[in-house]
Amino acid sequence: MSILILGSGQLARMMALASYPLGLQVRAVDVNTLEVVDPISKIVSEQTLTQAIDSAVAISVEFEHIPQDLLEKVNASGKLKPSIEAIMAGADRVKEKRLLSGLDIANCPYQVITHVEQLDAAVELLGEKLIIKASRDGYDGYGQWRLSATSELPALKAQLSSLDLVKVPLVVEKMLHFERELSLVGVRDGKGKVAYYPLAENLHHQGQLSVSVAPAPYVDEKLAEQAKTIFNKLAEELDYVGVLAVEFFQLGEQLLVNEIAPRVHNSGHWTMQGADTCQFENHIRAIAGLPLGSTEVTSPTAMINIVGCNDFSKELLSVAGTHLHWYDKTVRPKRKMGHLNICADSYAGLGEKLQSLTAYLPAQHFPLLEKEANRLVCV
Ligand code: ADP
Ligand code: MG
Repeated sequence: MSILILGSGQLARMMALASYPLGLQVRAVDVNTLEVVDPISKIVSEQTLTQAIDSAVAISVEFEHIPQDLLEKVNASGKLKPSIEAIMAGADRVKEKRLLSGLDIANCPYQVITHVEQLDAAVELLGEKLIIKASRDGYDGYGQWRLSATSELPALKAQLSSLDLVKVPLVVEKMLHFERELSLVGVRDGKGKVAYYPLAENLHHQGQLSVSVAPAPYVDEKLAEQAKTIFNKLAEELDYVGVLAVEFFQLGEQLLVNEIAPRVHNSGHWTMQGADTCQFENHIRAIAGLPLGSTEVTSPTAMINIVGCNDFSKELLSVAGTHLHWYDKTVRPKRKMGHLNICADSYAGLGEKLQSLTAYLPAQHFPLLEKEANRLVCV
């Protein structure tokens, strides 16, 4: 029995690794070449795309930016999970904002613009500190621009003038001063049963996730319930099947939704060691029609992204509770190369382990590590 995943990067790879023990094989589609590949070995299969679609028991995606014709071809099979609507809402910030507003879910104040000159009106409405996001194809902070003062407007307009904003509008958001970023990763099966992992606290560097800690410290029952209510509204509206991630900004006691990801998520990688069943296995279980696995936490866990480098010593594995997940990719600046999961009995213990890891991980590539280590020691 095989599962087909659109996209052949690290998320497809980790779904494949989680599938084998279930007796399921994962094949992946390289969305650029449309070749069917093994997402672990990257060996190209003899199978055509059509054959792979026909033989799959379920089809899913590792990211939302899938070419429309491919998504429609796959959707016609009736095997796509989550639904095409859910994937398209995650892929288009304008659709995503409409979905959130339609469900009365608090999100960041914004304006949609289709011409650079509309930026002046956006500044009037939202203030001069803005974050501007391409409505499609953005990820890891790519496709984003920032405005800190009105004086920067002419330069920003010049920079954006080459874009076709009628085709791909911009979502202009107020730059928020939030306390922190959190995310809820949960899973829903075909019968509507839901299981959630606890909220993770996420630290970003230059728009890209750097460190996640789960369960997030300082989360009371009310905050956790708020996140679950939002998750449920979205999952029910989209008749969702699979893992869904919701990114939040916390302002005081309120959660504002930043964005949603209709797939397994980087802020859920900690579950590979920190939870009874990891997000990858639960996604596969949900789309294959199997019972969901327990999302119970087995230990406080930190996830550290390894970005744009491979020159660290594997001796770091001598720090007890440290696990390496390497994606086998060629190094490029800002590219996610792998991640580390570090488990401990307490937050303080986690902080001490992260402190030990700073000896192996240069601050140049792991800019938030030392600060986070010192913070966790005091939680
Ligand atoms: P991506 O698809 O690249 O993850 P996001 O919209 O999540 O795009 O933005 C990436 C990061 O940029 C966020 O996690 C957050 O750190 C920062 N960010 C995004 N929007 C805002 C905002 N309105 N105010 C402040 N920071 C923001
Ligand atoms: Mg994001």
